[in-house]
Amino acid sequence: MKIGIISDIHGNLEALNVVLERIKGADKRVCLGDLVGYGPNPNECIKIVRDMNIPTVAGNHDKASIGEMDLTWFNRNARDAVIWTKKELSEENTEYLKCLPLTVEFDDFEIVHGSLRDPLSEYVTSIAEAVPTLEQMKKPLCFVGHSHKPLCVVKTKDGKYDGWQLQDGDVVRLKEFEKALVNVGGVGQPRDGDPRASYGVYDNEKKEVSIYRVPYNIERVQEKMREKGLPEPLIERLKYGV
Ligand code: ZN
Repeated sequence: MKIGIISDIHGNLEALNVVLERIKGADKRVCLGDLVGYGPNPNECIKIVRDMNIPTVAGNHDKASIGEMDLTWFNRNARDAVIWTKKELSEENTEYLKCLPLTVEFDDFEIVHGSLRDPLSEYVTSIAEAVPTLEQMKKPLCFVGHSHKPLCVVKTKDGKYDGWQLQDGDVVRLKEFEKALVNVGGVGQPRDGDPRASYGVYDNEKKEVSIYRVPYNIERVQEKMREKGLPEPLIERLKYGV
């Protein structure tokens, strides 16, 4: 079975549509949270994920946009976008976000937005930051989002830890390791210097996770953000993938 892994959509409908088109042949899809915040189409993105019944965990922006997270954790631009998103969200979609769980376990993998130690807030961007989650995992594989940077940290069969960044076309061969934590990068706001939308595909027969990047119409999203009065630095950064 092939499972499409998407994360950090952030109200970016153009990026979401392009990624979903790429994984339309997958048997299943899962989402690692942050459906909203930053981007101009929060309701449209939630509707797609809901209508497709994609299992999803809550992200910090999802919680903040329904008033369930302290905004002092957010920088000014992110905060302004959260406040805009909160006003924009339909009642139905607000209810949907309220019901999202923090973690979900499947047969042979689990998902969380930040880390298992701190599901909403902790960024895993290094080996050291990944170790607590690797030790807490109930399954051999855990997908995380939140940093918007594709990354893999593994525990090897002789009990050592190793980690590396992932790029377009990279494959993580899980059979070589005891456990693995994988960040598939962000669909709607990549931050690793590559502006293309990022996603993963997990083949649970081959036991491989592949990372892919796909271009989308960034200008169209920027136009919509300007129309809606979203902060200019958030508009600019999409072009650079930072
Ligand atoms: Zn995010």
